[in-house]
Amino acid sequence: MLDFLGELQRTHMCGELRASDAGKKAVLMGWVNRRRDLGNLLFIDLRDRSGITQIVINKELNAAVHKKAETLKNEYVVAVIGNVKQRDPNTVNKNIPTGEVELVADELRILNESKQPPFLPSDNILPNEEIRLKYRYIDLRRDAMQRNIELRHKVSIAIREYLSAHGFFEIETPFMTRSTPEGARDYLVPSRVQPGSFYALPQSPQLFKQILMISGFDRYFQIVRCFRDEDLRADRQPEFTQIDLEMSYPQPERVWEIVEGFLTAAFEAAGHQIKTPFPRMSYDEAMRLYGNDKPDMRLPAMTDVREAFNSDELQQFASKFKIRKDLPLQVIRIPKAGDISGTERRTIGTYGAFQHVQGSTFAQLMTDPKRFAKDYPEISERVLKLAKIAPDDLWLLAGALDNPEVAAVGGQSVQHFCEKCGFLRLDLAQKYAAKHGAFERSGDPARDFRFLWVTDFPMFEWDRDSRRWNAAHHPFTSPHDQDMAKLDGGFEAVTDPKSPLGEIRALAYDVVLNGTELGSGSIRIHRQDIQSKIFRALGMTDDEARSRFGFFLEALEYGTPPHGGIALGLDRIVMILAGADSLREVIPFPKTARAVDLMVDAPTPVSDEQLRELGIAIRIKKD
Ligand code: ASP
Repeated sequence: MLDFLGELQRTHMCGELRASDAGKKAVLMGWVNRRRDLGNLLFIDLRDRSGITQIVINKELNAAVHKKAETLKNEYVVAVIGNVKQRDPNTVNKNIPTGEVELVADELRILNESKQPPFLPSDNILPNEEIRLKYRYIDLRRDAMQRNIELRHKVSIAIREYLSAHGFFEIETPFMTRSTPEGARDYLVPSRVQPGSFYALPQSPQLFKQILMISGFDRYFQIVRCFRDEDLRADRQPEFTQIDLEMSYPQPERVWEIVEGFLTAAFEAAGHQIKTPFPRMSYDEAMRLYGNDKPDMRLPAMTDVREAFNSDELQQFASKFKIRKDLPLQVIRIPKAGDISGTERRTIGTYGAFQHVQGSTFAQLMTDPKRFAKDYPEISERVLKLAKIAPDDLWLLAGALDNPEVAAVGGQSVQHFCEKCGFLRLDLAQKYAAKHGAFERSGDPARDFRFLWVTDFPMFEWDRDSRRWNAAHHPFTSPHDQDMAKLDGGFEAVTDPKSPLGEIRALAYDVVLNGTELGSGSIRIHRQDIQSKIFRALGMTDDEARSRFGFFLEALEYGTPPHGGIALGLDRIVMILAGADSLREVIPFPKTARAVDLMVDAPTPVSDEQLRELGIAIRIKKD
């Protein structure tokens, strides 16, 4: 027989009682986390989201309650009315904040039973993730998940408060809209009233937030869901949450200050004091130094050591090893990875992203510093100094193989070569993580959280497959004022690999943390004439541009203020703060890598009736 809650009210949460409450009457409600039966004494760990309190039921004092308590099982929901008692010193539980007290039950109400769950919130060993996701409501009861979701809440609130205090209005934008330009596949929603027509779920509120600037709201933000139908990787979700903002009349620095401000607030909510302003680095510099547009600065940059050679030495070295002296000679250095075996050295470059390199058409690697020091003692000294190599560092030297065939197809630019070296750097960083320890939290935020602004991205990138220039960002990103003239190359420029389009810098920036891109944004184009030029530069005719973005091009003609903004991934920020290794640990109801929600079992087929109403017939390809 279950009891009713009736008028009974809680006096405390289960994590709240302390020694100073001893002697008080208390009413707690929660789940039976564990029951221990010691004959006359029965203990229940009662749990709610705030913690656990030990309940004691003494048969001699209260036989009826004891009898009832014997029927309790894991995850039953109960209310306990009792007296708070200080525990004997030898029974204090130092592991929990309520460990100095217990509640001696006078009355027990069983509010609900529970079937035996497939796993228990108190289990130390977790079942596989499919079970966790199918029974997400049980999984979310676990303390770790409760903490993650609480953290997510605190971080969101801190961001909201900061932005609101800085004049930003939180304004909602539609979910049922038309295709937005972030470059992924859209999720579509069929219209019933206009059969054959579809809404698209927004890949971001990009055009709406720009229109809100045209509408005079001056500063907008939204913590908003975005939808992108992409092939999922470990750290992607089909629906994810962005901290999206836009402001009128900003230089990039104004946007950065706001982001630094709300990230400071968010990290503070998680107990970390971070330092601002964040360092800044141009895209070109990031590529040269790290071979990556989102450098992980917890490990040293690469060093081009050509300076360590005089010109004759460089000439001889380059011709002996058939490397190009017009491309960097990169030292890749992993601190403290020290002594590795000769075999290990020989395998460097044959695993991971650098596979294409060793013994291939791409690069020459020098992985044996001892031999280098023997063959080139003086140069070696200079290299050690220039690249700041310590005795226990693992390091190697990479030069671009002088291979006319590769060079001819444009496959060996500085950027491309540095990118390959950057992959190797990251591979080695992972491989020797235990030795250098740079990825472990030290408790010092300046070391643990290496933020960076990457600026001056190229506006266009050359697509080698389709042999044309594409927008590197969404096409509403503004070029640098000084680079505008390079847009005037006409339609031929789009398919010309040597056109000045490749030199145009965008007013685009990314905020990066520990080698992860947290967000990206830009100053936008606010003039219709320039917007049209960009569409043309992308090979879009005026008619094509009108049919895709006509409403927006028209809006630009009605007094659009200069504006710019950014969007950061909330899920990723919370994941980093929680120290979690998957986005699914910080999203209450995530999807699997196959974009399935295992709890509600979505997606599912729908009835013929629904399809008829929508005017849709399903044609499934049979493999
Ligand atoms: N809409 C962009 C994105 O989702 C961000 C921005 O430019 O503000 O990546």
